Amino acid sequence: MTEKLYLQNSYIKETRSKLVSSTGNYLEFDKTIFYPTGGGQPCDTGIIRANGGTFKVVEVTKQGDSVLHKIEGELTRSATDIIQEIDWNRRYSHMRYHTAIHIIDAVVHHSSGKYGMITGSQIYQDRARVDFDFPDFSKELAERIIGESNRIIAEKHPIQIKELTSEEALSIPDLARTEPGRELIKKLGVVRVIEIKGVDAQADGGTHVNNTAEVRNIQLSSIESKGRRNKRMNIVLAEQ
Ligand SMILES: [Zn+2]
Repeated sequence: MTEKLYLQNSYIKETRSKLVSSTGNYLEFDKTIFYPTGGGQPCDTGIIRANGGTFKVVEVTKQGDSVLHKIEGELTRSATDIIQEIDWNRRYSHMRYHTAIHIIDAVVHHSSGKYGMITGSQIYQDRARVDFDFPDFSKELAERIIGESNRIIAEKHPIQIKELTSEEALSIPDLARTEPGRELIKKLGVVRVIEIKGVDAQADGGTHVNNTAEVRNIQLSSIESKGRRNKRMNIVLAEQ
């Protein structure tokens, strides 16, 4: 099992770790700051330093409770002490987009009745898409949702990561928004919850910024219709 430092603190850019196993160019460490692909968030990339050399980390995946790091080249000699360093620009962008999606989700969810629900999302380094089940969707509605999200961003809400028991988690209204989500929480011993203070709380395994202000500004690029009820919103974040 790999200790997942990215779940405890999304802002760690560098850490020292020990090599646990290596198969070809796939490495496993005792702990990692590299986020593995999952939950609509792409993996981190970066480098590791070992044996006086530098190796590119090109892909990170989860395998059971372990995190596997695919490197370019091979570690020829046994290395124990390894420095990990993530590509911070890429990660920070993923953090901002991930938090932006939670804010949009909160706006949509807390206006239920008027709107529909989010069914999926995908983050890229320079954009994201959010899929909805919306019986009645329009550019105007999408713009209203983005406008409300930007109002929340400007209010500078702090964001906290909490670890709760499944009973505590299930007692929070709306924490799990689907029946499969509730079932999953029941099975977990510890539930990681992302709380945007005064706005939203969700069980989540992604990396997030510490304050909504860091998202800066969401811009709607386009909307797409993927079916009668399935609609998509493409967004970008303002860089400054
Ligand atoms: Zn999330």
